[in-house]
Amino acid sequence: MQALAIDIGGTKILAGLVAADGTIDGLVEVPTPAREGSGAILDAVLAAARAARAATSARPVACGVGTAGVVAPDGSIASATDLLRGWAGTPLRAALAAELGLEVRVLNDVHATGLCEALLGAARGHGSALVVAVGTGIGGAIVRNGMVEQGAHGIAGAIGHLPAPLRQGRICSCGVLDHVEAYASGPALEAEYRRRTGRPRGLRAIAAAGEAEARAVIAEGAAALGAVIGGANNLVDTSVIVIGGGVAGIGEAFLAPLRAGIAAEALGATRAVPVVPARFGARACLVGAGLLALA
Ligand SMILES: [Zn+2]
Repeated sequence: MQALAIDIGGTKILAGLVAADGTIDGLVEVPTPAREGSGAILDAVLAAARAARAATSARPVACGVGTAGVVAPDGSIASATDLLRGWAGTPLRAALAAELGLEVRVLNDVHATGLCEALLGAARGHGSALVVAVGTGIGGAIVRNGMVEQGAHGIAGAIGHLPAPLRQGRICSCGVLDHVEAYASGPALEAEYRRRTGRPRGLRAIAAAGEAEARAVIAEGAAALGAVIGGANNLVDTSVIVIGGGVAGIGEAFLAPLRAGIAAEALGATRAVPVVPARFGARACLVGAGLLALA
């Protein structure tokens, strides 16, 4: 049994047929026409979905979608980054169901990624997980018993938009002062490194540089995020914490101070909760979308 799975990102759209073990058939990748409006994006999504279906003889039983943006309970896009012009307000679930002739379920992309990690990845076998993706932004997903908690408004798990322990007057991507995304995302680390050294460098170059300023910038951002994750897990009390995304890919220079920050805030038995790297990379959202449809 397979589901038609779709991953709608700011730069590319993936489609493929996903089985319960996470295997992908008929994988199709097309660029996202991000500046051309909702109709153009929907057209590209449908073209990718049809190409994926045509590439295999399997008949999908349903369709699952992971998309950038906040997903409302009815499967429409409640809000989205400015990178996807016009995406907010798109009735995504209804539009795809009408065109594809399948039942369609829609999740936010980080929620779909969290589902993948919980069912098949680093949190497999755990009853609950807090999955955090640290990249251009910082997102999260709370998964219990194989279900993602979307919350009343699709916002649940938005850990990047919790207050940072550092109060330096930085503006978050959401417009609010001093959310932790403004201290620990990839762009935040790059901006802080540039502020301290005058050198504009990408995150990989900063991580590779290894000098005192580079280590300090990475460690301070990671410690701030760790404190927020540790506090958040006191609230949601999951059995494993999974860290993924491009910034986590720096490795121990980021993960060690992150773990220390989590441990410093953890309450009681949550101190023993394992903090582990994500297992799935760039395909996690697509696989999670497929698993959503197969559930
Ligand atoms: Zn924010």
